[in-house]
Amino acid sequence: MADKYLELVNSGFTKKLAKSLGLPRPSILRRHVPGAPLLPGPLLLLGNSPSTQELADTLLGWGLDVRRHAVGVSTLGGILLLLDDLVAPEGLSAPMLAAGQALRQLAPGGRVVGISRAALSTDAPAVAAVRQGIDGALRSVGRELRGGATANGVVLGEGVAPTAPSALAALRFLLSGRSAYVNGQFLAIDSAEGKLPEDFGRPLAGKVAVVTGAARGIGAAIAATLHRDGATVVVVDVPAAGDALAKVANQVSGTALQLDVTRADAGEKIIEHALARHGHLDIVIHNAGITRDKLLANMDAARWDSVIAVNISSQLAMNAAFLAADLPGLRIVSLASTSGIAGNRGQTNYAASKAGVIGMVRASAPAFAAKGGGINAVAPGFIETDMTARIPVATRAVARMLMPSLMQGGLPVDVAEAIGFLASDAAAGINGRTLRVCGQSLVGA
Ligand code: NAD
Repeated sequence: MADKYLELVNSGFTKKLAKSLGLPRPSILRRHVPGAPLLPGPLLLLGNSPSTQELADTLLGWGLDVRRHAVGVSTLGGILLLLDDLVAPEGLSAPMLAAGQALRQLAPGGRVVGISRAALSTDAPAVAAVRQGIDGALRSVGRELRGGATANGVVLGEGVAPTAPSALAALRFLLSGRSAYVNGQFLAIDSAEGKLPEDFGRPLAGKVAVVTGAARGIGAAIAATLHRDGATVVVVDVPAAGDALAKVANQVSGTALQLDVTRADAGEKIIEHALARHGHLDIVIHNAGITRDKLLANMDAARWDSVIAVNISSQLAMNAAFLAADLPGLRIVSLASTSGIAGNRGQTNYAASKAGVIGMVRASAPAFAAKGGGINAVAPGFIETDMTARIPVATRAVARMLMPSLMQGGLPVDVAEAIGFLASDAAAGINGRTLRVCGQSLVGA
């Protein structure tokens, strides 16, 4: 139904009708198509940081048409604001106003990306003010853009250069169609770790990846995306979903493992299968999850405990098994949710489990980094799957319309793309973080 509405308000007579009635007209988002150009037009590079030239050279190497002025350019594919050198709020004026002037030239599905430094408690107040100020400015740009364009940022940790591998990989992800449903978000780069792929079309070549809860929905999309990006995929789901799981395994030319992730030995079973069938294990995606919604006043122990068991306790136990085994460089991505950030009526149990994931990845980061790997989370907002299909039709329709920036739910592939990026070696400088994939639908955050 969401797709039908998108189609109608974007074509012919019904487009005109929707316009004259003042109906919300969400745009068709620019998603990744293998082989398509990185941006739908030239990239305007603004800012005068000492790294400007080096960064411009890298972008030219990616085949981008990099411009320092927008004069005479009819359409821009993106605007990049290099702001890592700013030391006081007044410094933001020139680059932001220049970006503003160029926004009318931004193509549908265009991208605005800022590169800045993290505001630290040890910064001089004026320095921290401008660094934090960039967050507010970019998040607001995200809410002003139309036509499926987005605005996001790359935030450099102390001593990390704008040309560090994970900063470049994050920039490329945010410019590309892979970040279609990521808006108003920041990817924090913690270190200069990481290695850019030889082939950006197959960043997971040679990797063995396990995806839990992969029989349908977001998990099946993750399996397909990791496979497309070059990984050998092991799909895991409960025995009751065995038929659907076998189909997914076939589609991705991978192997299936029927397993309830709440089993005490789930981690060991996963390691055993991956090593026996594929020789190594490089990536685990903790995607299996359930909802058992009830207002807290009506909540029973079975609902509460099952959600905690599947959504967070199982991940803690499996991670302990992974850390105990010899799996160097293991990268984990876990599924959180915007419910775990903003809370959600009827979801105290689910929000506790998903906020728990955010805390868990932050606290687990050093242990995985010590083994040359890392762990991060993705927090999806409203994604069109069987899980959200259970929400009453009217509530769902209103929820989509209320999404202030992109005015639509995301697709499973949007979550999968963010996961594919965080699972790659290029993202090794990002650790313990949670990236929202929510079309900026979480007001105020
Ligand atoms: P879904 O219900 O469509 O699929 C979940 C899959 O997990 C199912 O195949 C199910 O059989 C499997 N699973 C459940 N319990 C399991 C267990 N104990 N062991 C192994 N597998 C198990 O859900 P989805 O919408 O695809 O969501 C996937 C993940 O994304 C979940 O963690 C969910 O909380 C999260 N998420 C979804 C949304 C959304 O809008 N759909 C939003 C935020 C977060």
